[in-house]
Amino acid sequence: MSHATNEVMIEIKNLKKAFGEHVVLKDISLQVNKGSVVAMIGPSGSGKSTLLRCINLLTVPEHGSIRVGAQDFTFGSKASKPLKDRELAKFRTNTGMVFQHFNLFPHMTALENVMEGMLTVLRKPKAEARAYALELLQKVGLSDRADIYPQRLSGGQKQRVAIARALAMRPGVMLFDEATSALDPELVGEVLNVIRSLAADGMTMILVTHEIAFAREVADQVIFMRDGVVVEAGPPSQVIDNPQEAATQSFLSRFN
Ligand code: ADP
Ligand code: MG
Repeated sequence: MSHATNEVMIEIKNLKKAFGEHVVLKDISLQVNKGSVVAMIGPSGSGKSTLLRCINLLTVPEHGSIRVGAQDFTFGSKASKPLKDRELAKFRTNTGMVFQHFNLFPHMTALENVMEGMLTVLRKPKAEARAYALELLQKVGLSDRADIYPQRLSGGQKQRVAIARALAMRPGVMLFDEATSALDPELVGEVLNVIRSLAADGMTMILVTHEIAFAREVADQVIFMRDGVVVEAGPPSQVIDNPQEAATQSFLSRFN
């Protein structure tokens, strides 16, 4: 069941990003409603990761505007203000990002990994951070692994710790960049289950994924990108089951 509301949570207008001469995002505009799940699909090199990174300003676009919740940034016009570090840090805590490679702190236990941002960025008291971290580890099914170091966790467990760590910042939006692509096939399901439960909680999410069946199941909106352009966007029943564009049809035929 979809939890999408009519409130726009993410609004991107006319986004452009180039690396040198190479234009990677060409005038991207999109909206994500609060509580909805967007699946972004497309061939390698189409700009999916760059778009996700722009949404939390890990990558700064040359042109366009990005609004997440109440915060917005405009780039490339005379009206745009320079980015302030504090604004940027605040903006980033609102967009939890989960990567293909988990990037856990190796010298910290699962629990300490989840607590870290609450202590250093949110400056929460230790007892409060610990209590919420334990709650989140329970949510991702890892209560019994709290004191284990990443080296002794499976890939699926590491990725679930990474999700709990992102959730610890109480983000309004979660961004997943191929969160299951590096996992052994038998470990994919446990991570998808966590994403499924977040969708059921009404978390606003953008998932870059090659799991087409999962996208069909959880997404309210599917975006097909190619060469820095949104070729086709709409509900899964349209984009996945009845694609109109030849490029979308050709891409999807690889998964059948
Ligand atoms: P996708 O995630 O869809 O595979 P990316 O967003 O990673 O696509 O990449 C889109 C294009 O941008 C690719 O051609 C890639 O080589 C290029 N690119 C991405 N990041 C950088 C970077 N930091 N510097 C130069 N080129 C980059
Ligand atoms: Mg990518």
